Amino acid sequence: MNRNEMQHVFFGNVARLIRWMQDHYSDYWVVGGDLWRDREVYKQIGKGSGVSLHFDRLAIDIPMVHREKKTLAADSELYRPAGTYWKSLHPLNRWGGDIPGDGNHFSMSPDGRI
Ligand SMILES: [Zn+2]
Repeated sequence: MNRNEMQHVFFGNVARLIRWMQDHYSDYWVVGGDLWRDREVYKQIGKGSGVSLHFDRLAIDIPMVHREKKTLAADSELYRPAGTYWKSLHPLNRWGGDIPGDGNHFSMSPDGRI
């Protein structure tokens, strides 16, 4: 699978994930977060590991905001059902919650990075 084909499959699965999250987390607003990050900009500001799948358009952050409390859902475990669903969509899909503290991060990994 070449990079563009992988991005295509990834993005289609992101659409499924967003819908799934909206259907299953009724107490939350499912909102958009980081998708693509510009490697050069991140290099200039001294941020990022340089190996993030966000640089390759193969990772997305999908935070949720509690509808009543209006607070960002920061507990990774809250995202675990979404992570399990995400990983069921493709064998290369990885969930950030498998690294403690990054539950709203979903990626498709060509090489095991999350
Ligand atoms: Zn991320």
